[in-house]
Amino acid sequence: MGGARILDGRSLAKTVRAEVRAGVDAFRASYGRTPGLDVVLVGEDPASVLYTRNKEKASNEVGMRGRLHVLPSSTAEADIARLLRDINADRGIDGILVQLPLPRHIDAQRVLDLIDPAKDVDGFHPMNAGMLALGRRGALVACTPAGCMRLLGLAGAKLEGANALVVGRSNIVGKPMAQLLLAANATVTIAHSRTLDLPAICRRADVLVVAVGRAQLVRGDWVMPGATVIDVGMNRITLPDGTTKLVGDVAFDEASEIAGAITPVPGGVGPMTIAMLLANTLEAAKRRQARGV
Ligand code: NDP
Repeated sequence: MGGARILDGRSLAKTVRAEVRAGVDAFRASYGRTPGLDVVLVGEDPASVLYTRNKEKASNEVGMRGRLHVLPSSTAEADIARLLRDINADRGIDGILVQLPLPRHIDAQRVLDLIDPAKDVDGFHPMNAGMLALGRRGALVACTPAGCMRLLGLAGAKLEGANALVVGRSNIVGKPMAQLLLAANATVTIAHSRTLDLPAICRRADVLVVAVGRAQLVRGDWVMPGATVIDVGMNRITLPDGTTKLVGDVAFDEASEIAGAITPVPGGVGPMTIAMLLANTLEAAKRRQARGV
């Protein structure tokens, strides 16, 4: 174990949840209703079942009204659309989340586009993604990048003027992460699978956020001494003895020798994602209430 400060996502997530719980109590006291989060799961993918149950449970634990809709994998897109229209119209629901991936016969983007942007607590609707890209206030921001920003705050990382590198350009992590860093006045580079000489680009990064999905892609000698490293990756690998282990996109043992601060996997970004979902739901509830809807 090296000298890097380990950024404890579990503990920070606990703090965020406590803030949200207090916010939910205050919301209920002011408005006489409880913020509601509806989670929609289509199919039986075991990881998705676990994630959605955790989201439902977490929302109830902070005093919200969490509800899980489970639909069979054979559900027609028109039926999902009907359910979303019903939840959009339900005044007691503040947040809607459709768990991804959706079964192959369903056009995920078309489904996500149906969610009322004011209830889009995943921040995936083009309206919210677009507002973030335009630097406009009031976007609901994707939960994982929002959680990464809180972890950078915990690290005390100076973002203004910093060289920030985001490895990965997905719509759910890489792109919104880059937008948030840009909004914080970092000089932002986005790398992806066609990037040439990734190690050299990584070595220039004061802040390195990796969201690729390749176990231990980023080696210790790719990291600038003292850099802040946020590892979004979650990869299950099989060890020589046949057991499995969850690892990130960064070779933690090597990188923690070099970095100034680093998130572990598990226990870094993962717990923050659900915490920020709860924070977004409370935020959506407050904004809807302020608009009188
Ligand atoms: P995607 O598969 O959608 O995107 C992966 C990105 O990585 C793509 O932009 C791809 O480039 C890029 N990439 C692939 N291979 C390389 C490579 N060798 N070098 C550089 N870039 C590469 O993944 P997600 O963004 O959805 O997720 C990324 C990781 O984060 C996964 O491990 C996922 O499990 C994890 N995750 C964790 C969350 C959490 O809460 N902790 C939440 C969400 C995701 P290109 O665009 O060119 O194909």
